[in-house]
Amino acid sequence: MFLTRATLSFYDALLTLAYPQVCSLCGNSVESRIYGSVCRSCWKSTRVFTGAEVICWKCGVPSREGIHRKEAETIRCRRCDLQPFEAARACGVYEGALRESALLLKRQPNLSAHLLNLLVGVARCSPLDQATRIVPVPLHPERERERGFNQALLISKAIAPALGLMVDEQSLFRIGMSHRYRAGLDAKGRRDTVERAFSVRFPQLIEGEIILLVDDVFTTGATVSSCAEVLLSEGARAVYVLTIARPAW
Ligand SMILES: [Zn+2]
Ligand SMILES: [Zn+2]
Repeated sequence: MFLTRATLSFYDALLTLAYPQVCSLCGNSVESRIYGSVCRSCWKSTRVFTGAEVICWKCGVPSREGIHRKEAETIRCRRCDLQPFEAARACGVYEGALRESALLLKRQPNLSAHLLNLLVGVARCSPLDQATRIVPVPLHPERERERGFNQALLISKAIAPALGLMVDEQSLFRIGMSHRYRAGLDAKGRRDTVERAFSVRFPQLIEGEIILLVDDVFTTGATVSSCAEVLLSEGARAVYVLTIARPAW
């Protein structure tokens, strides 16, 4: 183990010397490949959750109120009350290095070692650690053809070995209308479209399972809620959500 790590960091140092990478946020050089395309100091100034902050137990939004840790499970923002998932967690706030990593993942199928560590760390913490199966949020087939990969599936496959869970990329799929049609709808129309955008192909595969639903970014929670609703109505016991980042409010 020690030798492997030492050898890897030796090669990492050699590669960094031979092919210096410039931080895509500040332009300084990236000290190690484990940070991906962002330097250590940009990672440091990004709000990455440590587990010590007070958050809404359900949707994971950080709260500024000083509340005793013992009450952690009762802290709710109340805005997420109607969302059908059990709880959602992210590595941190959608800013700086996490935002950059999420945006890069839409263009390149690469996950930095540092981000992978953060994702695995969150998935191993309560309450997400109860999950029995990983389900990535499916990308619209048209979009997947354009991009060549689904970033949620990529994250799922990367974290699965460390969690000892299997990735189910078959059960949940998208049935939504084309993007062009959606663009012409009003806000309510778009919400309805999201609600009807997913379906379960093999209910027997998810029956009684505790799902770790994986997406790149948690924005309003509409997409993961739509997935969770379908998964639960087809027999899943509970749905937990894991994403790279979420807004701070
Ligand atoms: Zn930087
Ligand atoms: Zn909440």
